[in-house]
Amino acid sequence: MINVTVWNEFRHEKSDENVKRIYPDGIHKCIADFLGKDKEINVRTATLDEPMHGLTDEVLDNTDVIIWWGHAFHHEVSDEIAAKVHQRVLRGMGFIALHSCHVAKPFIKLIGTSGALRWRTDDFERLWVVSPSHPIAEGLGDYVEIEDEEMYGEAYDIPTPDELVFISWFRGGEVFRSGCCWNRGRGKVFYFRPGHESNPTYHVPDIQKIITNAVKWAAPKQIIEKLDCPFIEISPEAARK
Ligand code: ZN
Repeated sequence: MINVTVWNEFRHEKSDENVKRIYPDGIHKCIADFLGKDKEINVRTATLDEPMHGLTDEVLDNTDVIIWWGHAFHHEVSDEIAAKVHQRVLRGMGFIALHSCHVAKPFIKLIGTSGALRWRTDDFERLWVVSPSHPIAEGLGDYVEIEDEEMYGEAYDIPTPDELVFISWFRGGEVFRSGCCWNRGRGKVFYFRPGHESNPTYHVPDIQKIITNAVKWAAPKQIIEKLDCPFIEISPEAARK
């Protein structure tokens, strides 16, 4: 079984009637519900306003893949928790950053750049599959269309992805690297663009398929106990053996 923790800021769903209507129990609950239908996935949720943002050592120690959704309150995530998440990814945990997590603390720490991008509300998105044989694109057609989404455009300030799975096109003419994979230490990181809180994107079957595929792709074979010390001395004798 893959143990997944879906983490959500869970503020817009309480304060905005439109968002509440789309995700009555929160974005995290919607994602947990469709993931929970997969027999290989064991899912739990955590939110910003829980003690330690719901990410106690016990929770993190039992998480193979964490999914992160945040937007307006990234600054309220404690540096200590962000550092713990970051360290666990380096040790093997998978990290999936959704939509406005392009500037979430643990994600920025993992990629090492600003994550800055261009944006605009209200557009139509066509999400092109550019790596059809990639496990995250399994079961999809040539593209996925989302009727109403927020636009994110280039230049997106990220390190060149190790693998690029999706590129989005918007009616306004912009394009965006929407599905980006990186290896960080022992862990796998995936950024996936769609999922603005006031659009019902996480109810779209193909989007659910992509996130489920991403969980399976990011699931580690092993999470090591601690990171290797920076200098591992090998004696000349040992090297010759
Ligand atoms: Zn948004």
